[in-house]
This record gives sequence, structure tokens and C-alpha cells, in this order.
Amino acid sequence: MPTVETVLGPVEASRLGFTLSHEHVSLSMGNDARHYPWRFDWEATRTNAIRELSEAKAGGVGTIIELTTPDLGRDVTFMRDVARETGMHIVAATGIWRDVPRSFWARELDDIADIFVHEIEIGIEETGIKAGVIKVANDVGGVTPEGERVLRGAARACKRTGTPISTHHWAPEQVGRRQVELFALEGAPMDRIAIGHSGDSTDVGYLEALLKAGVYLSMDRYPGGPGRPNWEQRNETVKALIERGWVERLMLGHDHAPTHVLKGRPGYTPSSPTRYLHLSTVAIPAMLASGVSAEDIHTMTVDVPKRFLLGEA
Ligand SMILES: [Zn+2]
Repeated sequence: MPTVETVLGPVEASRLGFTLSHEHVSLSMGNDARHYPWRFDWEATRTNAIRELSEAKAGGVGTIIELTTPDLGRDVTFMRDVARETGMHIVAATGIWRDVPRSFWARELDDIADIFVHEIEIGIEETGIKAGVIKVANDVGGVTPEGERVLRGAARACKRTGTPISTHHWAPEQVGRRQVELFALEGAPMDRIAIGHSGDSTDVGYLEALLKAGVYLSMDRYPGGPGRPNWEQRNETVKALIERGWVERLMLGHDHAPTHVLKGRPGYTPSSPTRYLHLSTVAIPAMLASGVSAEDIHTMTVDVPKRFLLGEA
């Protein structure tokens, strides 16, 4: 039985179920949560995460691909704790987001790959929790020199282990084109790569150009909003791609993260009104009403993420 690494160890792929392609459980830019722990109410923060993951589980979500890196405040013991409490399958990430640590700027590409491979094969920190995905990020302005080093290191780790890469990219500037180009230069297998935040573009021609390179697209950041496509526009883009025959390459997600609660400010303030369930409760029902088949929904939310994580053709 093929298995996928989660924060609670390997899980049979057939048990992953409905899978969200890009989410967070504990997100803290600059790793503030670890550096300034006295600012946070940890009991309330933990309660929030458990509440939102339990709600997602009850709403039919089986697995989340958790794309928090060290520079985003990755905390795998927190993830393991809430996974135990809620029964949610959580796939943790190695890699680096936009705040590439200076130590990576001059590091040999193979040394960068070694670090990612260690987190995939041995584990993250001293926990034994293994990464099941590699995250990289390139945003406004395109791929920076240090971002390129991380991306090339990730491509090498992917080639060595078969572990998939999931990117963050700034779709309005079509930064995904350069990501695909660099992965190709490194000889990375395109069918092990997902170009993420692709739902921030409504340019079907651009998205199709990426797909033609052989990658997956993570159509995440539902429900979207001001300054970015709203959920109706995201649905239209997904539907257009399905109509062009790309359903086997599409995954869906929110990029949601439960809020860290600051001390002295008790109370529950979710960072999104629909949390991990906008797709299940709003966007997917609307897709179905607009003529997308239930089979296509199943493909994007169950079959494709499983294939992405496992590496089966
Ligand atoms: Zn994210």
C-alpha cells in the first residue's frame, strides 16, 4: 500500500480523502511566535487551531497540505498536537518561503538540497516528523537571486527523493513562467511540481502555458477578494481550464491559517469567515450548479492531490 508522510507518520494514500492543496495550521512571519512567545496566548491559539481543524474535518476535509516553512514560522510539534486532537491528516513541508535566510544566499545548491532531503528522509528538527512536500516562493518582482538558489536546491531535492514541490507565485506578474523555466533547467520532473496561488490569475492563456509544461496548478486562495480575483472569478477560471481538458492537473485550496492570539486580547477572531470550508460550502456547490461534474470535483479534490503527493503517473 503506498503511503504519504504526515505529521503523525505515514498514512495510506487511499485514506487521505478530500485534500486541500495549500493551507496552514500555524503561520508566523519572521518566526515571531518562537522568538517572542511572550506576546502570544498559546492556549487560545491552540484552541483556535483545533476548533478550525475540527470544523474542517466535520465538513468533510480529510487532509491538508500544510505549506509553512521555517521563515514562515513552521512548528511541526504544534501541527502534530492538533493533528492528534482533530484526526486531520497534515502533510508538512520543507523548503523556504520569501524570506530566504541569509545563510542560504551563498550556500551551495547541493547543500540546500541536502537540508531539504534531510527533512524529507530523516525528519524536521529532532522530531522525526518527515516532510511530504517541498515549498518555494517567488513573489512581486519575480525570482530574486536568492529565491533562485532555493528553487534550484528544491529541484535537486525533488530529483533525489521524488518528493513534490509546491510553489507560491505572484500570478499577476506571471512569475510561474520563470519558476517552470528554472525547474526545467535543473531537469526536475515537471509532473512532481505544482505552481501555487495560480487562482490569483484569471488569464487562462497564461495558466494553460504553465500546464503545457507538465506541471500541476494549485488553484488556491479561495475565497479571494479585494485586489485579487473573487471566488466567482476563480470558479470561472477553474471551469474554463476543465473545459480545455486540464482537470487531471488541478487542485483546490484556501491558503487559510488560524490566527495566533495575542496576549491580553482574548476572544476568537478567525482570519476568514469560512476558514477551511469556503470550497466545500460555497465554491464547489456553485461549480456544480454551473455544470462542473461531481466526478471532476472528486478528481480535483481527491485523485489529483493523492497523485501529486505520491508521484504516480
Ligand atoms: Zn500559503
